[in-house]
Amino acid sequence: MLSYDEAIERILSQISPSTPISFPILESLGLTLAEDIHTQSPLPPFDNSAMDGYAVVGVDVLNASMGEPVALTLLGTIAAGGDIAVRVTPGHAAPIMTGAPMPPGADTVVPIEDTKRTGDSVWVVEKSVVGQFVRKAGEDAPAGTLVVENGSAIRPAEVGMFAAAGRQSVLGHRRPRVGVISTGDELAEPGSDLGPTQIYNSNSYAISAQVMEAGGDVAVRVHAPDTLEDLRAAFDACADCDVILTTGGVSVGEFDFVKPVIEERGSVDFWRVAIRPGKPFVFGRCGGALLFGLPGNPVSAMVTFELFVRPALRRLLGAANPMRPIETALLTEEVSHDLGRRDFQRAVVTEGADGLRVRPTGRQGSGMLRSMVLANALMIVPEDVATLAAGEPISVIRLSS
Ligand code: AMP
Ligand code: MG
Repeated sequence: MLSYDEAIERILSQISPSTPISFPILESLGLTLAEDIHTQSPLPPFDNSAMDGYAVVGVDVLNASMGEPVALTLLGTIAAGGDIAVRVTPGHAAPIMTGAPMPPGADTVVPIEDTKRTGDSVWVVEKSVVGQFVRKAGEDAPAGTLVVENGSAIRPAEVGMFAAAGRQSVLGHRRPRVGVISTGDELAEPGSDLGPTQIYNSNSYAISAQVMEAGGDVAVRVHAPDTLEDLRAAFDACADCDVILTTGGVSVGEFDFVKPVIEERGSVDFWRVAIRPGKPFVFGRCGGALLFGLPGNPVSAMVTFELFVRPALRRLLGAANPMRPIETALLTEEVSHDLGRRDFQRAVVTEGADGLRVRPTGRQGSGMLRSMVLANALMIVPEDVATLAAGEPISVIRLSS
């Protein structure tokens, strides 16, 4: 049986970022940028006012004060986006709005709050520094500046910078199209009445939500009852997908048809990993798609998604580091487990003054979805350790993105 490290290495070594394509900038949010973005013109492109006020010759008002105000003769107003129709000479002031271009001759802006207006003059009643409240051309970024680097995560600020640099579209790695197939005769749709031996299909929703949160596109979501024909039909529905995820039907039960169908349509790379929860996990190929066969138990399905599928999707999306960071926390209670498998226990991490603290959520059954609801982290109990005492350090993976 493969160890977790061997399994994830084997998966990631087979995946490279998807070919970059062009996105309208708003649609690039959440993706990874696949080109360098430079400014064409300086940011801002011209000297402009940072305040609503008066454009003046700075030396005129250096020593203005309430006791000794300086009177300046008013010129025509300059609006943001307007033309510059005036030239400011000593003894004069042009009313100017925030973002309006500085008129020739003026080097300083006196804010309205520091003035009193009477007739066709304005009285400056506070001292100024030459150059104040003028935003110089290129002060944010000169022309040709690398403002967003290839490989950056695109957040709202990056989207704004693309626009500020005049870009309508940018190259990014597209979202992988993911097919989510749930299996099992016992499953009913939420909203329908449960038969006496049925449960609601939660995996289809939890796993699809994880795909969305990781940046994937849930292109197909289907349920297959436990027959070969139904499962084949579900795989047919995923023919256009980059990644196919199945849940359930991948163990050694009589109706576990996932592996036979993968072998029919593609190949199994490996089956079973020495982890808990989630030992019966399959990785393989199906047509052109990557195939991840997740266990049916709801916790096992979500944890194996987190451990194997999320990194794969992040790699396809071009993320610099597809793995979540591993941090260290101090246990607040003893934990124990069976030797031989790496145990990813559902846990609650809290931030103390001197670092992270962690405790398990309680009972860890792989069917107990509440352990995921209560958790904000997975805590990693190593293969070769039976017991860890309270106060000992342990590795944790925090789950919020
Ligand atoms: P299996 O691997 O198909 O034998 O499923 C293992 C366990 O997970 C069984 O108790 C199933 O009822 C449960 N299970 C499988 N698929 C789902 C699902 N989509 N939603 C909730 N529970 C599931
Ligand atoms: Mg089943």
